[in-house]
Amino acid sequence: MRKPATLKRLRRLSQLLFTLFFFSMPIFDILRYDVNTRDLYLFGNVWTLDIDGAIGMEHGMAGHVAWHILLKALLPWVLVLSIFPLMGLFTGRLFCGWLCPEGALFELAEFFSLKIFGRRHFFKSSANDPVNAKDMPFLYAVIALVCIVTIPVLTAVMLTGFFIAPADIWQQLRTFNIGFGLKAGIIGVCIYMFITSVLVRHVFCRYVCAAGLMQMLFGWFSPFSLKLKYDRVNSSKCTDCRQCEKVCFMDIKPRLPRYDISCVNCGECVDACNKELGSGHGLFSLKFGVDKSGTRRTSPPSLNN
Ligand code: SF4
Ligand code: SF4
Repeated sequence: MRKPATLKRLRRLSQLLFTLFFFSMPIFDILRYDVNTRDLYLFGNVWTLDIDGAIGMEHGMAGHVAWHILLKALLPWVLVLSIFPLMGLFTGRLFCGWLCPEGALFELAEFFSLKIFGRRHFFKSSANDPVNAKDMPFLYAVIALVCIVTIPVLTAVMLTGFFIAPADIWQQLRTFNIGFGLKAGIIGVCIYMFITSVLVRHVFCRYVCAAGLMQMLFGWFSPFSLKLKYDRVNSSKCTDCRQCEKVCFMDIKPRLPRYDISCVNCGECVDACNKELGSGHGLFSLKFGVDKSGTRRTSPPSLNN
């Protein structure tokens, strides 16, 4: 079996580590909101609004109460919501391609589609589908079925931990006494995961995901964010193999002169071109800042179709 290319191995490792970190957040009280006690846990501390306390302590002074709400209710959310625009400014959509657990799930679903049906989408072929991707379809269908049953349930249990204390969840599972909250969480997440990973996948990343859209917008106009660069000066070396297009799960044609803002900086096309032209001689790279090569190339024949 061919060894996965360098960026791909790094990416899989970072996706795995971030997914583990994300699901461990409620367990270690890094982030969770307990719907029973109405407490927000943040980095091991209980974060409470304590409006009654603020009113009582300050003898109802409106200015002090407003300051209290600003500090304890609005500021934390402003900080949380600024994470994705800030990431967009510096790393473009890197989070989507290298860390996002949902993106990793969509890639897994696509992997099974390719192995079982030989095409990315279950229902139709596309021009960008890799050639000869079908491989041991029966074996992969069995593995896919196991994943379809286990992954959504496990994910649902872990996600419910953001709202119900993980110790309570464990108790319910251990005694087979599943409460309404956990049941609703499992059913809801399973339906959501089935719809998004079977029917929608990266279309969701392109057009729906708010975190992705924020990174996309800020990365787009930022003069120093990480972006995929095409070596226009050496574009005559291109063999027009189209591997860079066939590996792109965001359905991008990375050789086109215009920059596609949906690019998640995954580096799959970088690896694909290095494989075609030799390691270190590929025409793509991930670099910070604007592209200064300035040389406009002629579109290869396959892009003129
Ligand atoms: S264009 Fe390249 S880096 Fe961007 S999403 Fe597609 S494969 Fe990944
Ligand atoms: S992978 Fe490289 S050589 Fe092949 S079509 Fe893309 S840019 Fe050209």
